[in-house]
Amino acid sequence: MSRIMRYGGRSVHMKKDIHPELKDCKVTCACGATFMTKSTKDEIHVEVCSECHPFYTGRQGKAKKTGAIEKFNRKYGYDQENA
Ligand SMILES: [Zn+2]
Repeated sequence: MSRIMRYGGRSVHMKKDIHPELKDCKVTCACGATFMTKSTKDEIHVEVCSECHPFYTGRQGKAKKTGAIEKFNRKYGYDQENA
């Protein structure tokens, strides 16, 4: 959000009274998860969040480990932790 501030010409000469007031904001994700944060908006809708993004859930990584790589490791007798 601070990135947006930089582009406003007014933000160069910042005054206390033009700082947007942060309020409780409800973030709603496309996956159905909701969580609270602080924003100038009342509500934000997002398509991915920490609940459903593979980077955070690790689902993708786990799927790979239980797939071809695990089969390969078993076939050649590699221990998963040494692989
Ligand atoms: Zn989500």
